[in-house]
Amino acid sequence: MKLLISTRNEHKLKEIRQILSLPGIEILDLSAFPQAPEVEEDADTFEGNAIKKAMVLSEITGLCTLADDSGLEVDALDGAPGVWSARYAGEPVSHAANNRKLLNALSEEEDRGAQFRCVIALVVPGEEPRTVAGICRGRISAVPHGEAGFGYDPVFIPDGETRTFAQMTDDEKNAISHRGRAIAAAHAAWASILSVG
Ligand code: IMP
Repeated sequence: MKLLISTRNEHKLKEIRQILSLPGIEILDLSAFPQAPEVEEDADTFEGNAIKKAMVLSEITGLCTLADDSGLEVDALDGAPGVWSARYAGEPVSHAANNRKLLNALSEEEDRGAQFRCVIALVVPGEEPRTVAGICRGRISAVPHGEAGFGYDPVFIPDGETRTFAQMTDDEKNAISHRGRAIAAAHAAWASILSVG
């Protein structure tokens, strides 16, 4: 079956492709649909945004479509930046500016606890949207470390680790990340959907 991944984020796409390799599935991305519109992520939940991204593209293409919405929730900031993670420091999106703003916001803070959350929505044409979620708990480092990955990876140290996500290999990150866990949940919950068609 053909499965469209509704994202223009190269990093997310690479991670989803690496984790979601199933026999019989041909993964397409938005480069196959250059005319597809930019979907405004204006919902106030990860679920809402993931479903919207998957629904819009599924309606346009007629394909089974999967979308991810994800972000960082910081305990001392009452869950911020949350759904606004990408644009935490404003437009244009800058991962470096987001990380600087986050480290400044936590400069006096002893509680460094945080988690990444990922919600994946699957829309099969003609059916109700489905979602699964994955969480990765950890803490925010004092300063950025590492060059790999994207977004808040240089400042996020997952539980049980001394390194940030940006200091890990792709496989190490995928094995414990919010996106890895959400995709594992997708495998378990949607095995019959993803293996037929
Ligand atoms: P989205 O495209 O609205 O889902 O934005 C997700 C934003 O959350 C990204 O731009 C990053 O700032 C952050 N984010 C989500 N997943 C990750 C990750 O795996 N590592 C680092 N940052 C992430």
